[in-house]
Amino acid sequence: MTIARETDIAIAGGGLVGLTMACALADAGFDVVVLDGKPAPARRDAAFDGRASAIAAASQRMLARLGVWDALAPCAQPILEIRVSDGDAPLFLHYDHADVGEGPLGYMVENRDTIAALHERAAALPGLAPVAPAAVDQLERARGRIVLGWPGGRIAARLAIAADGRASRLRALAGIGSTTHDYRQTGIVCTVRHERPHQGIAHERFLPAGPFAILPLAGDRASLVWTERADLAPRLLALDDTAFLEELGDRFGDFLGGLALEGPRWSYPLALVRAERVVDDRLALIGDAAQAIHPIAGQGFNLGLRDVATLAHVLAEGRAVGLEPGDAGPLAHYERWRRTDTVVLATVTDGLNRLFANDSAPLRLARDVGLALVDRAPPLKRVFMRHAMGTFGTLPRLLAADHANTVRRT
Ligand SMILES: Cc1cc2nc3c(=O)[nH]c(=O)nc-3n(C[C@H](O)[C@H](O)[C@H](O)COP(=O)(O)OP(=O)(O)OC[C@H]3O[C@@H](n4cnc5c(N)ncnc54)[C@H](O)[C@@H]3O)c2cc1C
Repeated sequence: MTIARETDIAIAGGGLVGLTMACALADAGFDVVVLDGKPAPARRDAAFDGRASAIAAASQRMLARLGVWDALAPCAQPILEIRVSDGDAPLFLHYDHADVGEGPLGYMVENRDTIAALHERAAALPGLAPVAPAAVDQLERARGRIVLGWPGGRIAARLAIAADGRASRLRALAGIGSTTHDYRQTGIVCTVRHERPHQGIAHERFLPAGPFAILPLAGDRASLVWTERADLAPRLLALDDTAFLEELGDRFGDFLGGLALEGPRWSYPLALVRAERVVDDRLALIGDAAQAIHPIAGQGFNLGLRDVATLAHVLAEGRAVGLEPGDAGPLAHYERWRRTDTVVLATVTDGLNRLFANDSAPLRLARDVGLALVDRAPPLKRVFMRHAMGTFGTLPRLLAADHANTVRRT
């Protein structure tokens, strides 16, 4: 088969992370082609994804720098407080944005709004070409290029990026192994309307089956992530609306008044998936293709955005000293830079889920005392808050507070 075209960088996967990567690279002046197995969803498509994501403060700053935030601002809900509790225990951990003296802790945005804003921005950027449907199923390397193929097309690039999700086909085609831990949990996701205002407060309750998160959305609405045992979830999902709302009410409580379901219920099987390495010859892995973590801390997308910012940073730096995108030096730098953050978050989210999914009485007492101690230790609390806000450690340009040196397409 002949090669239809050439580009600097080909990205397999135009989901939240792949499209942000494409915008960041096109913004920095690279030619980019994004291949996705599915056509772009219609604007605010209710069938695209039922989730809303907690977007950390640093991630919001990055989306603003990429020209994506303006379209999201009207539908984003600032998170002003987070309250964490262990079932019905009276002790809880309380994070208040005022304690760090900056803006909100983060924002809640529905994924269907984020994907629409990214598509809008991508369409306005010269040098960025989306191709869909293009489910990548071939990989070859030839004469200093990596070649990706899909039914009906092929493209040669200096660098390929796998952003095709936790079951990444490109990762498998490159022969990169991965480890998977199945949590045997299902994330049931739905949106509710409630009577009383949420005042920007996010609640995370640790129930025996797993975390139950009530996340404020714009308007008197909340996105729920209800973790259940995988063998019990199908029964809950099959209930009619009245019975489902009754089960939901038992866990939610009545502090926001009456509840009504908005839109369908969604279910996501939960697993920790980690690629054995995130770079290869002319290939980098980002987002869930590199690591997919438990949603307990609402950090997967934020982690993927940190992959994006770091890879964009090392590629722009490499170009400034005459290197091309697929050269080994910048890729090795990317792998080193991302290692600690990804290992820490995979370990912490995994550990938290194991700790709180255990209902033994001594363990329950120990973790309640632990929550109370963290709540009374302001320096430790601030460290956790900075991590949740994505403002911890050495940040690449797109995430840093001082953005003076960013390389941008003019
Ligand atoms: C219940 C739940 C709640 C969550 N809440 C949060 C939160 O509050 N905050 C947060 O930061 N994170 C959250 N996450 C995590 C977050 O949703 C993911 O980390 C994020 O969506 C990963 O995006 P991605 O683009 O890497 O992968 P995906 O969203 O899986 O996108 C992959 C893309 O690749 C395409 N594709 C697949 N195969 C191919 C192929 N062969 N060729 C071409 N294209 C292909 C797909 O069509 C898709 O568009 C949550 C996760 C769950 C399960």
